[in-house]
Amino acid sequence: MSGPRLHTPDWHVPGNVIARVSNRHGGVSAAPFDSFNLALHVGDDPAAVQQNRERLLQELPAGMCVQWLEQVHGTTVVDADWQSPQRCGDAVYVDKPGLAGAVLTADCLPVFFAARSGRRVAVAHAGWRGLAAGILETTLARFADAPDDVVTWLGPAIGVCHFEVGLEVRDIFLDACATASQRQHMQAMAFRPAARADKCHADLYALARLRLQTAGVREVGGGGLCTHCDAAHYYSFRRDGRTGRFVSIVGLAPDQH
Ligand SMILES: [Zn+2]
Repeated sequence: MSGPRLHTPDWHVPGNVIARVSNRHGGVSAAPFDSFNLALHVGDDPAAVQQNRERLLQELPAGMCVQWLEQVHGTTVVDADWQSPQRCGDAVYVDKPGLAGAVLTADCLPVFFAARSGRRVAVAHAGWRGLAAGILETTLARFADAPDDVVTWLGPAIGVCHFEVGLEVRDIFLDACATASQRQHMQAMAFRPAARADKCHADLYALARLRLQTAGVREVGGGGLCTHCDAAHYYSFRRDGRTGRFVSIVGLAPDQH
Protein backbone atom coordinates (compact mmCIF):
# COMPACT_ATOMS: atom_id res chain seq x y z
CA MET A 1 0.00 0.00 0.00
CA SER A 2 1.38 3.43 -0.87
CA GLY A 3 1.68 6.11 1.79
CA PRO A 4 0.49 9.71 1.76
CA ARG A 5 1.71 12.00 -1.00
CA LEU A 6 2.12 15.35 0.68
CA HIS A 7 2.56 18.65 -1.13
CA THR A 8 5.23 21.12 -0.02
CA PRO A 9 4.28 24.79 -0.49
CA ASP A 10 6.55 26.68 -2.90
CA TRP A 11 7.28 29.62 -0.59
CA HIS A 12 10.55 31.28 0.34
CA VAL A 13 11.30 30.11 3.86
CA PRO A 14 14.38 28.65 5.61
CA GLY A 15 14.85 24.88 5.54
CA ASN A 16 13.91 24.35 9.19
CA VAL A 17 10.33 25.41 8.39
CA ILE A 18 8.36 22.24 7.71
CA ALA A 19 5.12 22.82 5.76
CA ARG A 20 2.95 20.18 4.11
CA VAL A 21 -0.54 19.81 2.63
CA SER A 22 -2.20 16.41 2.35
CA ASN A 23 -4.80 15.18 -0.12
CA ARG A 24 -7.21 12.22 -0.06
CA HIS A 25 -4.59 9.66 -1.01
CA GLY A 26 -2.42 7.32 1.03
CA GLY A 27 -4.60 6.52 4.04
CA VAL A 28 -6.79 3.73 5.37
CA SER A 29 -10.24 5.34 5.76
CA ALA A 30 -13.21 3.79 3.94
CA ALA A 31 -15.70 5.70 1.74
CA PRO A 32 -16.90 8.41 1.96
CA PHE A 33 -13.74 9.32 3.88
CA ASP A 34 -11.36 7.56 1.50
CA SER A 35 -8.74 7.45 2.23
CA PHE A 36 -6.47 9.90 4.09
CA ASN A 37 -9.00 11.59 6.37
CA LEU A 38 -7.35 13.25 9.37
CA ALA A 39 -10.45 14.53 11.20
CA LEU A 40 -12.02 12.77 14.18
CA HIS A 41 -15.26 14.82 14.20
CA VAL A 42 -16.69 13.83 10.81
CA GLY A 43 -18.00 10.33 11.59
CA ASP A 44 -15.04 8.30 10.34
CA ASP A 45 -13.73 5.28 12.29
CA PRO A 46 -11.43 6.80 14.98
CA ALA A 47 -8.99 3.89 14.62
CA ALA A 48 -8.59 4.69 10.90
CA VAL A 49 -8.06 8.39 11.64
CA GLN A 50 -5.46 7.51 14.25
CA GLN A 51 -3.65 5.31 11.76
CA ASN A 52 -3.75 8.11 9.18
CA ARG A 53 -2.32 10.57 11.74
CA GLU A 54 0.51 8.14 12.44
CA ARG A 55 1.22 7.95 8.70
CA LEU A 56 1.31 11.74 8.61
CA LEU A 57 3.85 11.82 11.46
CA GLN A 58 6.06 9.37 9.56
CA GLU A 59 6.28 11.92 6.73
CA LEU A 60 7.61 14.61 9.09
CA PRO A 61 11.08 14.88 10.64
CA ALA A 62 11.49 12.39 13.49
CA GLY A 63 10.34 13.61 16.90
CA MET A 64 7.85 16.24 15.77
CA CYS A 65 4.71 16.73 17.85
CA VAL A 66 1.48 18.07 16.31
CA GLN A 67 -0.92 20.52 17.97
CA TRP A 68 -4.41 19.71 16.66
CA LEU A 69 -7.39 22.08 16.90
CA GLU A 70 -11.09 21.96 17.46
CA GLN A 71 -11.99 24.66 14.91
CA VAL A 72 -14.95 26.94 15.59
CA HIS A 73 -14.79 29.72 12.91
CA GLY A 74 -13.51 32.21 15.48
CA THR A 75 -10.30 34.20 15.90
CA THR A 76 -8.50 32.35 18.71
CA VAL A 77 -4.82 31.70 17.99
CA VAL A 78 -3.49 28.79 20.02
CA ASP A 79 0.18 28.64 21.03
CA ALA A 80 1.34 25.12 20.21
CA ASP A 81 2.65 23.18 23.20
CA TRP A 82 3.28 19.64 24.38
CA GLN A 83 0.52 19.75 27.04
CA SER A 84 -2.72 18.99 25.22
CA PRO A 85 -2.90 17.31 21.80
CA GLN A 86 -6.12 19.14 20.83
CA ARG A 87 -7.27 22.64 21.79
CA CYS A 88 -10.03 25.00 20.73
CA GLY A 89 -9.14 27.70 18.18
CA ASP A 90 -8.77 28.50 14.48
CA ALA A 91 -5.04 29.11 14.15
CA VAL A 92 -1.90 27.65 15.68
CA TYR A 93 1.26 29.63 16.34
CA VAL A 94 4.56 27.77 16.75
CA ASP A 95 7.85 29.20 18.04
CA LYS A 96 9.43 26.07 19.50
CA PRO A 97 11.52 23.62 17.46
CA GLY A 98 9.94 20.16 17.32
CA LEU A 99 6.35 21.44 17.34
CA ALA A 100 3.89 21.75 14.46
CA GLY A 101 0.37 23.14 14.15
CA ALA A 102 -2.35 21.64 11.98
CA VAL A 103 -5.65 22.81 10.54
CA LEU A 104 -8.19 20.54 8.88
CA THR A 105 -10.28 21.70 5.96
CA ALA A 106 -12.57 20.63 3.13
CA ASP A 107 -13.36 23.96 1.34
CA CYS A 108 -12.29 26.51 3.96
CA LEU A 109 -8.98 28.24 3.28
CA PRO A 110 -5.80 27.14 5.08
CA VAL A 111 -3.31 30.02 5.37
CA PHE A 112 0.36 29.39 6.18
CA PHE A 113 2.57 32.01 7.87
CA ALA A 114 6.34 31.98 8.45
CA ALA A 115 8.77 34.63 9.69
CA ARG A 116 11.58 35.08 7.14
CA SER A 117 13.96 34.28 10.00
CA GLY A 118 12.43 30.80 10.25
CA ARG A 119 11.91 31.21 13.98
CA ARG A 120 8.14 31.50 14.05
CA VAL A 121 5.35 29.93 11.97
CA ALA A 122 1.57 29.62 12.07
CA VAL A 123 -1.32 28.15 10.14
CA ALA A 124 -4.89 29.46 10.17
CA HIS A 125 -8.27 27.99 9.22
CA ALA A 126 -10.17 30.68 7.32
CA GLY A 127 -13.72 30.29 6.12
CA TRP A 128 -15.60 33.46 5.27
CA ARG A 129 -16.67 33.88 8.91
CA GLY A 130 -13.11 33.62 10.19
CA LEU A 131 -11.82 35.94 7.44
CA ALA A 132 -14.48 38.53 8.26
CA ALA A 133 -13.80 38.24 11.99
CA GLY A 134 -10.08 38.86 11.42
CA ILE A 135 -8.43 35.47 11.92
CA LEU A 136 -5.60 36.38 9.50
CA GLU A 137 -4.88 39.75 11.15
CA THR A 138 -5.01 38.15 14.61
CA THR A 139 -2.60 35.42 13.56
CA LEU A 140 -0.23 37.96 12.00
CA ALA A 141 -0.31 40.02 15.19
CA ARG A 142 1.04 37.02 17.11
CA PHE A 143 4.37 37.49 15.25
CA ALA A 144 6.98 39.83 16.71
CA ASP A 145 8.10 40.48 13.11
CA ALA A 146 7.12 43.40 10.88
CA PRO A 147 4.35 42.23 8.51
CA ASP A 148 6.62 42.35 5.46
CA ASP A 149 9.01 39.99 7.26
CA VAL A 150 6.24 37.38 7.33
CA VAL A 151 5.77 35.15 4.27
CA THR A 152 2.34 33.63 3.63
CA TRP A 153 0.95 30.88 1.41
CA LEU A 154 -2.65 29.94 0.59
CA GLY A 155 -3.54 26.23 0.62
CA PRO A 156 -6.34 24.44 -1.27
CA ALA A 157 -9.84 25.87 -0.79
CA ILE A 158 -13.13 26.07 -2.65
CA GLY A 159 -12.72 28.27 -5.72
CA VAL A 160 -14.77 31.25 -6.84
CA CYS A 161 -16.35 28.90 -9.41
CA HIS A 162 -18.20 27.02 -6.66
CA PHE A 163 -18.35 29.30 -3.65
CA GLU A 164 -21.77 30.91 -3.70
CA VAL A 165 -22.75 33.13 -0.78
CA GLY A 166 -25.56 35.54 0.07
CA LEU A 167 -25.11 39.21 -0.75
CA GLU A 168 -25.07 39.93 2.99
CA VAL A 169 -21.74 38.07 3.19
CA ARG A 170 -20.29 40.26 0.44
CA ASP A 171 -21.53 43.36 2.24
CA ILE A 172 -19.79 42.34 5.49
CA PHE A 173 -16.44 42.40 3.65
CA LEU A 174 -17.17 45.53 1.64
CA ASP A 175 -18.38 47.43 4.71
CA ALA A 176 -15.14 46.53 6.52
CA CYS A 177 -13.04 48.35 3.90
CA ALA A 178 -11.47 51.56 5.22
CA THR A 179 -11.83 53.60 2.03
CA ALA A 180 -14.14 53.79 -0.99
CA SER A 181 -11.33 52.78 -3.34
CA GLN A 182 -10.49 49.72 -1.22
CA ARG A 183 -14.15 48.81 -1.29
CA GLN A 184 -14.27 49.16 -5.07
CA HIS A 185 -11.09 47.12 -5.46
CA MET A 186 -12.39 44.31 -3.24
CA GLN A 187 -15.72 44.22 -5.04
CA ALA A 188 -13.90 43.85 -8.38
CA MET A 189 -11.28 41.34 -7.19
CA ALA A 190 -13.19 39.08 -4.82
CA PHE A 191 -16.82 38.88 -5.95
CA ARG A 192 -18.64 37.80 -9.10
CA PRO A 193 -22.33 37.73 -9.99
CA ALA A 194 -24.25 34.48 -9.45
CA ALA A 195 -27.22 33.04 -11.35
CA ARG A 196 -29.55 34.23 -8.59
CA ALA A 197 -29.83 37.96 -7.93
CA ASP A 198 -29.66 37.53 -4.13
CA LYS A 199 -26.38 35.54 -4.34
CA CYS A 200 -22.85 36.09 -5.54
CA HIS A 201 -19.65 34.09 -5.91
CA ALA A 202 -16.89 34.85 -3.42
CA ASP A 203 -13.17 34.30 -3.98
CA LEU A 204 -11.64 33.22 -0.65
CA TYR A 205 -8.13 33.48 -2.10
CA ALA A 206 -8.68 37.07 -3.23
CA LEU A 207 -10.29 38.00 0.10
CA ALA A 208 -7.34 36.54 2.03
CA ARG A 209 -4.80 38.19 -0.29
CA LEU A 210 -6.46 41.60 0.05
CA ARG A 211 -6.77 41.34 3.83
CA LEU A 212 -3.13 40.23 4.19
CA GLN A 213 -1.87 42.96 1.85
CA THR A 214 -3.86 45.58 3.71
CA ALA A 215 -2.20 44.31 6.90
CA GLY A 216 1.22 44.90 5.32
CA VAL A 217 2.16 41.40 4.12
CA ARG A 218 3.89 41.58 0.74
CA GLU A 219 4.45 37.93 -0.05
CA VAL A 220 1.25 35.90 -0.48
CA GLY A 221 1.81 32.70 -2.48
CA GLY A 222 -0.34 29.74 -3.45
CA GLY A 223 -4.06 29.82 -4.21
CA GLY A 224 -5.97 29.11 -7.39
CA LEU A 225 -7.18 25.53 -6.79
CA CYS A 226 -10.79 24.49 -6.23
CA THR A 227 -11.49 21.65 -3.79
CA HIS A 228 -15.01 21.30 -5.19
CA CYS A 229 -13.77 20.89 -8.79
CA ASP A 230 -10.96 18.48 -7.89
CA ALA A 231 -12.74 15.44 -6.41
CA ALA A 232 -9.77 13.21 -7.29
CA HIS A 233 -7.53 15.02 -4.81
CA TYR A 234 -9.57 16.92 -2.25
CA TYR A 235 -12.47 16.56 0.13
CA SER A 236 -15.18 19.19 -0.37
CA PHE A 237 -17.91 19.73 2.20
CA ARG A 238 -20.10 21.65 -0.24
CA ARG A 239 -19.78 18.93 -2.84
CA ASP A 240 -20.13 15.85 -0.63
CA GLY A 241 -21.48 16.86 2.79
CA ARG A 242 -20.38 13.75 4.67
CA THR A 243 -16.68 13.61 3.85
CA GLY A 244 -13.16 13.78 5.28
CA ARG A 245 -10.74 16.62 5.96
CA PHE A 246 -7.21 17.09 4.66
CA VAL A 247 -4.48 18.70 6.71
CA SER A 248 -2.36 21.83 6.34
CA ILE A 249 0.54 21.56 8.73
CA VAL A 250 3.43 23.85 9.56
CA GLY A 251 6.16 23.47 12.15
CA LEU A 252 9.78 23.98 13.10
CA ALA A 253 12.17 21.06 12.67
CA PRO A 254 13.60 19.71 15.94
CA ASP A 255 17.00 21.19 16.90
CA GLN A 256 19.98 19.07 15.81
CA HIS A 257 21.95 17.87 18.83
ZN1 LIG B 1 -14.82 24.84 -8.57
